[in-house]
Amino acid sequence: MSVLLVLEESGGKIKRASWEALAAANRLAPAQEITAVVIGAETEALAAEAAAKPVGKVVRVEHPLLNTYTADGFSLALHQLLQNQSPTQVVFPHTYQVRDYAPALACKFGQVLIGDVIAIEDGPIFTRQLLQGRLTGTYRHSGDGPCFVSVQAGAFRPDSNIAAPETQGSAGPAPIELFTPTLDPAQIRTKPGEPFRESAQTVDLGSAQRIVSVGRGIKGAENLPLIEALAGALGAELAASRPICDNGWLPMARQVGSSGQTVAPKLYLAVGISGAIQHLVGMKGSQCIVAINKDRDAPIFEVADYGIVGDLFEVVPALTEAVKAGR
Ligand SMILES: Cc1cc2nc3c(=O)[nH]c(=O)nc-3n(C[C@H](O)[C@H](O)[C@H](O)COP(=O)(O)OP(=O)(O)OC[C@H]3O[C@@H](n4cnc5c(N)ncnc54)[C@H](O)[C@@H]3O)c2cc1C
Repeated sequence: MSVLLVLEESGGKIKRASWEALAAANRLAPAQEITAVVIGAETEALAAEAAAKPVGKVVRVEHPLLNTYTADGFSLALHQLLQNQSPTQVVFPHTYQVRDYAPALACKFGQVLIGDVIAIEDGPIFTRQLLQGRLTGTYRHSGDGPCFVSVQAGAFRPDSNIAAPETQGSAGPAPIELFTPTLDPAQIRTKPGEPFRESAQTVDLGSAQRIVSVGRGIKGAENLPLIEALAGALGAELAASRPICDNGWLPMARQVGSSGQTVAPKLYLAVGISGAIQHLVGMKGSQCIVAINKDRDAPIFEVADYGIVGDLFEVVPALTEAVKAGR
């Protein structure tokens, strides 16, 4: 098995989602069989960052036309790289960018992209969620050609199942190779606009140990002090589902989910949050999930370790008092 892992960067740093994809790649093959790929016009620093991770080698796919992301540029360049390297598996983080170009790349090999994978079992068998997370489906690659897989944010913990370089007998950073694809400006048919702006990361929810997160069940901004009091009593950061931030009740930096932050605290308390898949991907890596919801069938209860079915306007004040009394 040889795995090609395509890393994605933002602001000159490899994105966390790429390291989650490395954890997934490690489910498929040991580190020395993983080739990490960085793409762009100048990739030296990115390659050095990748080479410090437990991978067999790093390939810099470099060309002036890859300076700005385009689906044509990336899929053409990777097509040539894959023909050169012939991996059995190609792994990506399931980002907006990957969603844009990876299916086209897979098509060039007569393959499909097994997208948004949440688990990988021996076989390999890939699990994806269907119907907003109500069902899961398992997929196995068949036929000739590489197997293309993208992995859901938050599904694989970076470093959790990856052996450190020293325990693999690695003598230092992985070797770095340069690959220069042949690209012509006429092949790039699109002119990129402003990239999609994910919520600003001015609040670092990613390193919070405890988070109290509030959803539309709170009904209005005037009720937020109820949640703030509970967060205060628990010494927790305040977070929210997207509608709360879209309404301007809390800043975008506090949004958890696919277009917000990915968090993995020891405790995640979800209050009045239904558990839509876009929210779950951002928090399901939490160690202990507690949900308060008046709807016993809310999907949040499927990922919760503890659930309270009840009216948050009754449960939250009682819980806050209980926490204060227990201190
Ligand atoms: C491209 C895209 C990206 C997205 N990104 C994100 C993202 O990053 N993060 C995110 O969160 N969402 C995201 N969403 C939106 C997502 O699909 C959901 O719409 C959103 O998560 C729902 O938020 P909610 O659970 O707060 O609201 P709702 O789904 O309306 O749920 C409210 C819940 O509160 C409960 N409730 C109501 N009253 C009470 C009460 N008195 N006591 C207790 N419980 C009560 C209800 O039973 C319900 O389950 C995205 C959507 C798209 C299309």
